[in-house]
Amino acid sequence: MDRVFQLREPEYWGFGRAGQLSAAPSRRKSHRTSLRLRKDDSTGILCPARRRPGQKLSGDMIVKTAVVCGAGGFIGSHLAKRLKKEGYWVRGVDVKRPEFGRTAADEFHLLDLRQEKNCAKAISLNEGRVADEVYQLAADMGGMGFIHSAECEIMHNNALINIHMTHASATMGVKRYFYSSSVCIYRDMKPGEPEMKEEEAIPAHPDNEYGWEKLYSERVAMAYGRRYRMPVRIARFQNCYGQEGTWRGGREKAPAAICRKIAMTENGGTIDIWGDGSAVRSYTYVDDMVEGIYRLTQSDLDSPTNIGCPKYYTVKELVDIVAATAKKTIHTRTVPGPVGVQSRNFSNDKIYSIGWRSQFDLIAGIRQTYPWIVKQVTTAARAEIRAAGK
Ligand code: NAD
Repeated sequence: MDRVFQLREPEYWGFGRAGQLSAAPSRRKSHRTSLRLRKDDSTGILCPARRRPGQKLSGDMIVKTAVVCGAGGFIGSHLAKRLKKEGYWVRGVDVKRPEFGRTAADEFHLLDLRQEKNCAKAISLNEGRVADEVYQLAADMGGMGFIHSAECEIMHNNALINIHMTHASATMGVKRYFYSSSVCIYRDMKPGEPEMKEEEAIPAHPDNEYGWEKLYSERVAMAYGRRYRMPVRIARFQNCYGQEGTWRGGREKAPAAICRKIAMTENGGTIDIWGDGSAVRSYTYVDDMVEGIYRLTQSDLDSPTNIGCPKYYTVKELVDIVAATAKKTIHTRTVPGPVGVQSRNFSNDKIYSIGWRSQFDLIAGIRQTYPWIVKQVTTAARAEIRAAGK
């Protein structure tokens, strides 16, 4: 049933006459307004009742439209939920649907964004209009194992997606463009080095081709932003983890892989880890990440911005935190594998300047994530048993 709630109206909504969006994003101070909310059957979250893109709300407000590229993936599917909570009309685009539940997006289009015409299709709305905001998270992507074994696919596929999506968005008049980059664009660091700021990415020396492609695509986005006066916001994500992320199959990242291994190991057992367990990383819980994406996109920060939890952990400490959450004693055996860089220590001053702070440290985030992975492991094991019995 629909319920009327008082929502804080986002500052950036355009206030136009006769249903027109104002040419420039409004700088008016936020005020409160009523929106009709309903409980979404698939996600259980309260969101504005479904509206057509561009439909007027009371008081001359317009429903903002957003396209989330990569909405079938981990961060993209969480971002679609977040944007729905903000009252957007959302279109999700991906080559696959979300694996772990229904999308929160109003529409979902299966499109291969390596093709230029599909990028144009992805952002086109009815009556010749285009989406107000594009969030570009589509990528051929995975943990260190994937990044090191699929260099050509990453360089080829991701560059095509980014070139075409940036070009389509800028030339067709998208009002705001978000690009998901990575801290993989930075060089390796030594333990104890002082914090590295965003501008220290250049001169560049990323550790892997995934990082080089991200750096190139950042520059593509900024060049198009300058030429076409399209506001571009770029986030450099630290490792992101949480529920509904890839947890097996070779593309999973360290937190999910370690949760899975510990879920599948009896108390007192041993798991394999790549390298000697001393590599240092920071891990950002997905709710914090999507909050950072949203705030950054609405902000005036027009140069690449790190988003990450300020605490750093060795791989061994990550194992200890997951084991403690699982209430298991777990031993580790180190095996050769692609470890990636040795150390990280990035400045978050820029994202802090717009009020963002991570709300979940690793212990709190793993408390959310581990039970979900246990459930996946159990469900998959039951399915295997059923299949074997047939
Ligand atoms: P993900 O793999 O879960 O999501 C990426 C999505 O892009 C997938 O659903 C995939 O199907 C889609 N995609 C791939 N090729 C496509 C194509 N040709 N056309 C349309 N869709 C396509 O990854 P994620 O963890 O959600 O990452 C999202 C973004 O954030 C990526 O750009 C990634 O590089 C970046 N990033 C993620 C992390 C992290 O820790 N997860 C860290 C740094 C940067």
